[in-house]
Amino acid sequence: MTQNPTAATTLNKSDLIVVTGAGGFIAGSLVKYFTDEGFSNIRAIDKKPLSEWYQREPDVESLSLDLSYRDNCKRAVEGADEVYNLAADMGGMGFIERFRVECLRSILINTHLIDEAYKANVKRYFFSSSACAYNTELQQDPNVRALKESDAYPAMAERGYGWEKLMSEMICEEYWAERQLKTAIARFHNCYGPNGTWDGGREKAPAALIRKVLEAVDSGELELEIWGDGNQTRSFIYIDDLVKGIDLIMHSDDLIASPINLGSSQLVSISDLVSLIEDIASVKLARQYDLDAPQGVAGRNSDNTLIEQVLGWEPDTPLREGLRNTYAWIRQQYADRRSGKYTPAGMHQHI
Ligand code: NAD
Repeated sequence: MTQNPTAATTLNKSDLIVVTGAGGFIAGSLVKYFTDEGFSNIRAIDKKPLSEWYQREPDVESLSLDLSYRDNCKRAVEGADEVYNLAADMGGMGFIERFRVECLRSILINTHLIDEAYKANVKRYFFSSSACAYNTELQQDPNVRALKESDAYPAMAERGYGWEKLMSEMICEEYWAERQLKTAIARFHNCYGPNGTWDGGREKAPAALIRKVLEAVDSGELELEIWGDGNQTRSFIYIDDLVKGIDLIMHSDDLIASPINLGSSQLVSISDLVSLIEDIASVKLARQYDLDAPQGVAGRNSDNTLIEQVLGWEPDTPLREGLRNTYAWIRQQYADRRSGKYTPAGMHQHI
């Protein structure tokens, strides 16, 4: 098999890579990935103060800028060869169902950033879209058919967050069609792993459930509250697979301006996810189901036919292995916080 192009085979090690949202989970890990690949000229940006970033690399230019303002976007992309836009106001279902205005306003980030990137002649531009861009009417059953790329249209995206993603995808598509800026668009399915939000209201299901298990064990009250009836199904991609996928998608000339799934195709129910976490924690908890809590669509899975076809690759870290790493990291954060040590907190829900 011929090797897929990546940053390492496309760029010089001193070319400037700009990553936005770098104080958060995925972009922080992407910066680490490029550092490990030997890139020496990386600019990382987030609106959070530097002290609140989950990960900081010592040799990376790290800036605290709000990218919903055009001037800050101009500063962000100055001299850049490649731009990866992962900045967004986002969280798990509890956040995106409650704060739709904040989610929609992320459109300002991509709108200004891509335009400044175009003016600065960047070579490639990446946008992090989401499975929430898919038509929700195709996701009413836990035994869902996996979503393929064409299922976004006719459009009926998730209110707020999903529509912002769909519209920003379209902006990226047109910057290629009309202005020949090479854009890459990945629709991430639920991603999990160390160095992400695990409390504060923006956390997603795996991190939230791990924290709840730790709290139950810590308090001695061996109960666990689950949002919904536990039968909702999802697939979960581990962070190491996701950052690798971003690199592959960004550098494939067969995928320019073509939204593509980046997710695991292993479907699990929330109840099964809880059982896996209980196994890792060596505990069994009494489950309470909150049927009024936000729970999103009934089922969602990633159809990986296209990524397999084009790249000959799909994410493959076993869920149990990824969860074990995530559990270990959150347990340490939890213990550090209990003992009074500083840990970056999940941003408060409403900002
Ligand atoms: P995250 O919340 O950990 O990171 C996003 C970062 O963007 C935050 O640190 C936030 O402070 C920053 N940000 C928000 N508004 C900003 C602004 N105006 N200027 C500069 N920075 C700003 O989220 P994440 O899980 O790392 O998600 C990264 C990207 O991937 C987002 O675009 C998200 O929508 C997308 N995505 C994530 C998942 C997932 O499972 N985590 C799934 C689908 C899509």
